[in-house]
Formats: sequence, C-alpha cells, structure tokens
Amino acid sequence: AGPLVEVRDLKVHFPITTGLIFDRVVGHVMAVDGVDLAVPRGKTYGLVGESGCGKSTLGRAILRLTEPTAGTVHFDGVELTKLPAAKMRGMRRRMQMIFQDPMSSLDPRQNVESILVEGLQAHGIGADRAERRKIISKTLDAVGLPQWALSRYPHEFSGGQRQRIGIARALVLGPELIVADEPVSALDVSIQAQVINLLDELQDELGLTYLVIAHDLAVVRHISDVVGVMYLGALVEEAPSDRLYREPLHPYTRALMSAVPVPDPEVEDRRERILLAGDLPSPANPPAGCRFHTRCPWAQPTRCADERPVLRDVGGTRVACHFAEQIQSGELRPHEVRV
Ligand code: SF4
Ligand code: MG
Repeated sequence: AGPLVEVRDLKVHFPITTGLIFDRVVGHVMAVDGVDLAVPRGKTYGLVGESGCGKSTLGRAILRLTEPTAGTVHFDGVELTKLPAAKMRGMRRRMQMIFQDPMSSLDPRQNVESILVEGLQAHGIGADRAERRKIISKTLDAVGLPQWALSRYPHEFSGGQRQRIGIARALVLGPELIVADEPVSALDVSIQAQVINLLDELQDELGLTYLVIAHDLAVVRHISDVVGVMYLGALVEEAPSDRLYREPLHPYTRALMSAVPVPDPEVEDRRERILLAGDLPSPANPPAGCRFHTRCPWAQPTRCADERPVLRDVGGTRVACHFAEQIQSGELRPHEVRV
C-alpha cells in the first residue's frame, strides 16, 4: 500500500474582496500555492514554517475543512477533493484534527463526557450508551486522564490536560490520520514534551499517521520521520528528519535552524547565525522568481529574482533552491545582512 495521504499540486487561493455594498474581488491570497507531499502510513510528517506561510491552511485543505482551489488529495487511495458531501462525512471519522488551543476548540458548556459522546453519536459509533461509555473510558485511559474527568468541564483542567481532552476527542472516533495544528505551542515548555511523548506512544500503539504542524523546528524534531519546510505557500525543503536536522540545505531552513535555542548552555554553540532581512512578504503579492529572494542571504543576481526554483532531489533531500549545491559546499558565501 502507498502513502496514507498524497497531495498533488494543491492550491488554496482566498479572494480578497472590497466594496461597500457589493463585493468586488481585487486579488487573491495564495495561501497554498502548488504543494506536493506524501505522508507515509504509521509515520509522522512534520510541517514547519512561520505563521502565515500556509501550513495550517494546507492541513485544513487535506481534511477538506477548507476547500482547495486546485490539485488533488488522495487519502488511502481515494481522491477527496471531488468526493460528494455524504461520502466525505463517512471519511471524516478516519481523519481527525487536534488544535492549538483546546480552550477555544472545546465547548465550555459541555462536560468531558458529552464532548466525547457527541462525536460517537455523530458517527453512529457504539450500539448503546453502555458501549459508548466503554469506548470513552478506554480513550481516557489511553490519553492519561482519570475517569472522574468525565463529569468535569474544560475550564477545570490545566492546559496540558485540556490538550489531552482534545486528543481524546479525536481518538475516540478511531481515526487513522491525525492532523495536529500547533498541538503544543500554547503549552508551557515543561508540558510540551509530555504531550509530544503521548502522541508518540499513541502512534506506536494504534498505528496512527500524523501530520504535525508547527512554527518551531525543535517541536517536531523528535516525533517526525519526515520534515517539510514551507515558505509563502510552497514547500522549500523536505527530507527525512535526521537528514534535515543534520544538514539543512535551503537557506530558509538554515535560518530557522539557527533560531532554535541551544539546549545545553554548557555546550559551545558553533552553528552559523543567519539573520533574515525584512519581514515575510504578503502572500497576496509574493515576490517573483524565488519567493525567498527578498530575504535570502545567498540570493544571486539575476536568476533568483527571475526564475522560480522547483523542488528537486539533492542527495535525498527535496529542495527548491537554484544554488543548493554551491551553498552546501561553501562555494557561495552569504552576504552580510543589514538589519
Ligand atoms: Fe536563495 Fe536563490 Fe536559493 Fe532562492 S534560489 S533560496 S534566493 S539562493
Ligand atoms: Mg513516531
């Protein structure tokens, strides 16, 4: 069997409208602009990039929570983007989402039991109340919450426990794919590792496939088998996790990597410091040529401004940079960046 998820040339463009009474479309935000990727079964794909790079939109478009503008998404061999609504509802159970802030995604008026029962009822899982209780009780055990949690409300829990409720709500339906959008970025650093470890254990026990979205390369490092880096709606680099962290090729990945805090203050940090000039350009008006050329410390005239690099294989990494080899060998040196 091939990958569980296969995305081909996926685009999500949002119209920008203006007008006092009647909307007039004045442009488009190219939130996702031609992404190809595959998520292998039982593995974790870590998707990383700054806020506004399109990674959340891509995650939502894969689940069709946002309708793609073009391209295809295959889930277990079934093309989702043209699936009629009734068939899509049937697929939904198999793919679930975990959100950044469980406080805003959990209904504060529902106790944990009714939050979990709701999904079971919506998907017709469990013959009767007793059977649903059993599924819910096992799910609580699996995410490390006590049984008394059932009668409590979201605000009665800590942030880490609330994220466990969010994970339970996804898991109770028995999904195969979980898209986790910034699952730990709202949590204290000390709690982040616990939640990541829980996701990792659940994956081993249940054979789950994950797409984990994060703005921070450090967060997805230990859980990801493959990591993809997005910039302005496009993938700029993708590699097996060990390889990406050992030898990032794309200048943008190198910049993100140099911003990751050093874990051990005793260890001398010999990594390069890469400062990026300027802010993330608007996805409504992305730069021509290489989208990163306005901030890239290695940008070369005039090719980088003229020609859009495509993802190509460089020693097992897919990278979208015209000069990946020359940058890797040190033949090209970064320019001084004035900040
Ligand atoms: Fe930088 Fe040019 Fe490579 Fe783009 S193609 S990342 S601008 S060197
Ligand atoms: Mg794993």
